[in-house]
Amino acid sequence: MIFELTILGATSATPVVDKHPTAQVLNYNDQLYLLDCGEGTQVQLLRYDFRFSRINHIFISHLHGDHYLGLMGLLFTMHLQKREKTIHIYAPRGLDEIIMTHLRQGKSVLSFSIDFHPLEGNQSVHILEEEFLTVETIPMNHGIPCYGFLFREKPKSLNINKEKLPANLPIPLILALKNGEDIFFEEQIIQNQTLTLPPAPLRTYAFCADSKYHEPIIHQLKGVSMIYHEATLTEEFAEKIESGGMYHSTAKQAGTIARKAEVGKLIIGHFSVRYANLDVFLKEARSVFPNTVLAIEGDTYSVD
Ligand SMILES: [Zn+2]
Ligand SMILES: [Zn+2]
Repeated sequence: MIFELTILGATSATPVVDKHPTAQVLNYNDQLYLLDCGEGTQVQLLRYDFRFSRINHIFISHLHGDHYLGLMGLLFTMHLQKREKTIHIYAPRGLDEIIMTHLRQGKSVLSFSIDFHPLEGNQSVHILEEEFLTVETIPMNHGIPCYGFLFREKPKSLNINKEKLPANLPIPLILALKNGEDIFFEEQIIQNQTLTLPPAPLRTYAFCADSKYHEPIIHQLKGVSMIYHEATLTEEFAEKIESGGMYHSTAKQAGTIARKAEVGKLIIGHFSVRYANLDVFLKEARSVFPNTVLAIEGDTYSVD
């Protein structure tokens, strides 16, 4: 089953020609999950061929403009497209009021309903259960309420060992095998493990939004297949961040979170526009966590 992430934007708040603020699309089994929705996200979705109708869940990390200012535009376009299906929005409380103000002042009634799921508190909570996936929040440290999102595959059924499977085995017995049961066939009990193989390992993706270096998330990220972590700055700003006023991470700090959490792969983004060349971010993060890549607009990263 497809499990992949496409970056739609990876700069921080200051506008740049031809670059976009934070937005990502996670595709799981052809269901699209939108993570943050900075300005221009709907155009980026069009550019990379994502149909709006395939998005049913939108996750907004926090209420800084570079993470949600594209949302009203996207919702209005969904209305113009005569969308009927409910859209679920997960965001810190307050975004519901912002959306309602837009609608009320424009006397607009959307063609679909919005199911708003407010996020609050400092504890991780389970916010969505899909057929094959669950989603939980990751509380970040950003000066205002800010959440990352952790997508976990649900436990899978066992694989059938086709080489050993009797040709005439009825389908209900095959399903019983996949569920881990022993079966009774041709007058004998067959132990489950003689005809099955372990399921594929469970894959996980964590979107870690804007944050200072924040060790409490390490426990939750333990062993995650792939994480995105912001890296707004490099180490020359470490002191300035530490002395206050800046709730962002350096590339090295992002790498340190990845190393301590023993994740499979790290994607860094949310780059400050101070930097003309992004290689410095990559070098710095790789010095502590070698399997790091840059978030590049339009690039797709497989979760495995
Ligand atoms: Zn930001
Ligand atoms: Zn922010």
